[in-house]
Amino acid sequence: MTETVLAAVMVAPRQPIELREFPRPDLPPGAALLRTASSEVCGTDVHLWHGRLAGVPYPIIPGHVSTGTIEAARGPLTGIDGLPVREGDRAVFFDVHRTCGRCRACTVHRTPTRCSSRRVYGITDSANEGLFGGWAQAIYLEPGVAIARLPERVALEDYIGGGCGLLTAVHILERAEIRLGDAVVVQGAGAVGICASALARLAGASRVITIGAPADRLALAREMGADTTLDLPSTSRAARLEAVLAATNGEGADVVIEATGAADAVAEGLDLTRVGGRYVIAGHYTDAGDSAINAHRHINRKHVEIRGCWGSEPRHFLRALSVLERHGGRIPFRKIGAGRYGLGELNEALRDAEAMRVPKALVDPWK
Ligand SMILES: [Zn+2]
Ligand SMILES: [Zn+2]
Repeated sequence: MTETVLAAVMVAPRQPIELREFPRPDLPPGAALLRTASSEVCGTDVHLWHGRLAGVPYPIIPGHVSTGTIEAARGPLTGIDGLPVREGDRAVFFDVHRTCGRCRACTVHRTPTRCSSRRVYGITDSANEGLFGGWAQAIYLEPGVAIARLPERVALEDYIGGGCGLLTAVHILERAEIRLGDAVVVQGAGAVGICASALARLAGASRVITIGAPADRLALAREMGADTTLDLPSTSRAARLEAVLAATNGEGADVVIEATGAADAVAEGLDLTRVGGRYVIAGHYTDAGDSAINAHRHINRKHVEIRGCWGSEPRHFLRALSVLERHGGRIPFRKIGAGRYGLGELNEALRDAEAMRVPKALVDPWK
């Protein structure tokens, strides 16, 4: 590798992405440099580009989930799975690289994804601090980052295809507490919804119904684990309710997972949940406005449980790797990733992601 590293920089919201050269970083003990193989452009990157996330220190190098090869390491590295990680290994890392471990969110409430000091690659680190994002030919892995050698059976394409959506879906599944035989509705057929559909099937759901669009994403959701899909634009809300009731003895789903980010999805999701069921809201990563629900009908009388799900923790990263190692050959996570955009093509990638032409655009920094 040369002495400089090429990266794509989001200088400010709504501004064109710029290419910049960064010095190759000096590595303190415990740090490593990952030669990037691929990164992604996900919905979060579109939100970043729209300036819809608070406290982002632009300019940034986006790309929070990435794959690569350990180009250099200073001292021995141990993966999150306890195994050594060496130079030349294919490696991946958990994007949240700092939480304080001392604040009330971290210690008292046990909600480290809400730690106010949380730092996330590709989102919360300024490009002025260095190579903290995947839209670059190399990523600086600071000491303490949760890294792992990619298991031999896991293809880079499956890891990055699942990407952040898979990690989020692992956390959603934990919150959803799906039981063997449950009927599950997933609202949304983006990367998160498709991954959640696949994991709900793996978790033992007897029936998985995925609602979304367009047709190719619904086809992929079925290939990944959904039994039935309902096309959002061509069905009415009443027709979708009828379809779910018909599939659940007239009761509604045991668990409904929201992965749309649409304000009006919430009332519908609660309509689709059975009495005493559970509703997990994970798609409202930015403020999409108020959702109108009826507290009597949707919550109180229904005796329903509503849970939020924010971000992910290292255990979700590790479990995602285990899922990929066991099922990656059979469940085509790689198909969620589409296109390969070079560092000079990321304006186009953002526009394609924004227009939902691709569930997830992949970044190839060497193209
Ligand atoms: Zn904290
Ligand atoms: Zn993402």
